[in-house]
Amino acid sequence: MGEARLVVVGDELLAGAHPDLNAPELARALARVGIVVKGVELVEDCEEGIAAAIDRARARAELVVCTGGLGPTLDDVTRHGVARAFDVPLAIDQAALNDILSWYERRGAAMPRTNERQALLPRGAVAITNRVGTAPGFRIEKAGRLVVSLPGPPAELRVVLEEEVVPFLVASGRARPPLGEHGFQLFGISESEFARDVGAWMDRDAEPKMGCSAKQGRLLVRLRSTEEGESGMRKLAERRDAFRVRFVEHIYAERDERLEAVLARALLANALEITFAESCTGGLAAAYLTRVAGISAVFRRSFVAYADEVKRDVLGVPQELLDVHGAVSKPVASAMAAGAAAVSGARLAVAITGVAGPAGATDDKPVGEVWFATSLDGEVETFERRFPPGERNWIRALAAHQALFLAWRRLRRAGLAAAACEPGCD
Ligand code: ATP
Repeated sequence: MGEARLVVVGDELLAGAHPDLNAPELARALARVGIVVKGVELVEDCEEGIAAAIDRARARAELVVCTGGLGPTLDDVTRHGVARAFDVPLAIDQAALNDILSWYERRGAAMPRTNERQALLPRGAVAITNRVGTAPGFRIEKAGRLVVSLPGPPAELRVVLEEEVVPFLVASGRARPPLGEHGFQLFGISESEFARDVGAWMDRDAEPKMGCSAKQGRLLVRLRSTEEGESGMRKLAERRDAFRVRFVEHIYAERDERLEAVLARALLANALEITFAESCTGGLAAAYLTRVAGISAVFRRSFVAYADEVKRDVLGVPQELLDVHGAVSKPVASAMAAGAAAVSGARLAVAITGVAGPAGATDDKPVGEVWFATSLDGEVETFERRFPPGERNWIRALAAHQALFLAWRRLRRAGLAAAACEPGCD
């Protein structure tokens, strides 16, 4: 296995203005191709400091990756630091300049003169294309030590790393081809339920290895081969297929995709209109869904109904149901969904009513108690969730995501949404 050291440049990182996201990203990407990161140094935007950090790093590893400080302003001095470390002058690199010029041209703008500075590279360096930003990266090598300098914005770093740097490291024999991996996104299952159901698949010595993290009620699961070649690939494919069967009820995506995007795709594919009747989430589910561009084709209106009389007068929830069962109840959730569908004319209506807290709880309706209902073509189904007691807005976000998931699951069960893995998604 090869080894690397990282030099992360940025005054704002040292000042604690925001955390360094690039070192973890780099460490993960390099690990996938067999390169272990052995150390990270955080340095300020200062030519001498950067040069010294590069010297320290390349004395100890064959590969050094720097990030940040490649912008057009005078305080962006990483290229100067690298030039100093390699004891070479800076000169305009024509390939880099062309890249920057065409970046502006694609946006119908002229390149400001200040950006020309970004085409300055240490002599002997090779420019690395950055398709998503103006700052090209570069690589420079001496005595078997390679220094790669990459832009600081994490979204740019990720693209340049994946599209340019990793393929170069593999092609030049410094890294092995990436091992197989496969991701799943699940909803409606807690981490502990998942751990119970997944059993030995998550053992430390399992092949492939399985990792899992939770994010706002979603579980992100990743299978990673540690074995190279055919056998590793075969084991990964077998585990992936078995996983799909075991967790079919919960998998909503097999790539990095948000719930609202998956739901929107199903709605748009069927030209099927949706509406929400939201109580404790105050419009959050609708807000999430309307993040998706083009959603107005299937989303015309939605309801936020807090007070009982609004549930009654706007959505037609019978007063008797409110009196007998209370607003947070199965019958009221059902009536809210049926009412929202009737008033809006949408084929799919999703209702949410619950106790977000901290006040409003009763003995049988604790904080976190939420009732959901979906009405599809006039048929109502209900669902209850008791979220663990927590902060109000955490419960509201979980409930809104749960509503999106229930809507998608309802469509999938009705044959109106593709399963998470469409043909060819492997
Ligand atoms: P730019 O052309 O955008 O100036 P750059 O390569 O010069 O790119 P910096 O100027 O160092 O990068 O950083 C630009 C922005 O990218 C920073 O304001 C910060 O928001 C983000 N950024 C840079 N480095 C990191 C990092 N290590 N972790 C997280 N964010 C970072």
